[in-house]
Amino acid sequence: MRIVDIHECAVPISRYADVSIGAATLTTSVVAVTTDVVVDGVLVVGYGFSSFGRFAQSGLIRERFAPRLLRASPSSLMNSVGDNFDPFRAWEVMMHGEKPGGHGERCVAVGTLDMAIWDAAAKTASAPLCEFLAELVGTVPIAEEVPAYAAGGYAYPSDDIRHLSDEVRRFLDFGYTRVKIKIGATDLSRDLQRVEAVLKLLQAPNCLAVDAMHAYNRASATEAAANLEGYSLWWIEDFLDPLDFEGLAHLAVAYRGNIAAGESLFSESEAGLLDLYGGLNRQRDFLLFDPVHCYGIPGYLRIVTRLLEKGWPRSAFWPHGGHLFSFHVAKGLGLGGIEVNPLSFPPFGGLADGAKLHAGKVLAPEHPGIGFEHKSELRHLFEQNTASPV
Ligand code: MG
Repeated sequence: MRIVDIHECAVPISRYADVSIGAATLTTSVVAVTTDVVVDGVLVVGYGFSSFGRFAQSGLIRERFAPRLLRASPSSLMNSVGDNFDPFRAWEVMMHGEKPGGHGERCVAVGTLDMAIWDAAAKTASAPLCEFLAELVGTVPIAEEVPAYAAGGYAYPSDDIRHLSDEVRRFLDFGYTRVKIKIGATDLSRDLQRVEAVLKLLQAPNCLAVDAMHAYNRASATEAAANLEGYSLWWIEDFLDPLDFEGLAHLAVAYRGNIAAGESLFSESEAGLLDLYGGLNRQRDFLLFDPVHCYGIPGYLRIVTRLLEKGWPRSAFWPHGGHLFSFHVAKGLGLGGIEVNPLSFPPFGGLADGAKLHAGKVLAPEHPGIGFEHKSELRHLFEQNTASPV
């Protein structure tokens, strides 16, 4: 049982369902980890990608982390019984010789390969990733349905309010009841118009969250929060630089609603600093770390474990991503819920073909592994872009 080949390719992605808007501004790495394992007559290939928002990681994957996996002895990647790959041991192989700190974006490169290795291991076990993960880490029994919200609402280059409203109506038609839109890309008065347009479509103000994608400085963050406070939104997200914990602590005092943070922090140490100095309320606020960007599941688990020990509930974790992998991680670890990108970042965003929503919760068909092959357009993309080994 061994890894035979690793393939990587950078592909463009768009924040919009209409991929001609903002095309070629973002990329992500797709990887395929080919094994020599055959299950039910099918060769096990693990697929992964770099989630959204951090660009492709071709150099780091091709020059550093994939070669370490390919050079490793087969036994160093396997579990103690010898009947499957051990993603935690594979992670140690990838990180061999790496010094702590200086995360840069190597965490994304490692997380991308880690995703594919978990996919391969779960397929080898003939189990959906959420079940495989829950069993491996000993999580409490997992719920059938996962709370979810629809994310999107990026500013459109023209006729913004009409396009935004149409997008949110489509979310509601899909069955989502909670929605997150972006703010901070335009002036505050326009953003308030966007918020009010969306609120007219939703059942209640606390069905809407807003994400500023770190666009504000301290003064503009304070002004935006003051103007948003009266709406009683579900949460406000990423108003400041991700490492401005002092600024966030001031904001947490000034703003009386919920705050969500953590999407752009990539390590257990940074998560610890957020908890210690960010002024967040452990019983009220939300944590959005992206499992892919945090060195994959082993790194994400360290964050979850540390913050649970600090008194955060599992229900506070709503992992960033909006794709199938985040769904499995949230379900497998019994977390609060997930972001879903039903329209953004096609064909990576959203859940498996045939996923259903009931009262704001996702009931998704579960296939062995992550199930990327069961999103028809995504299967095609993986197969087209992972034909040549690194
Ligand atoms: Mg965000």
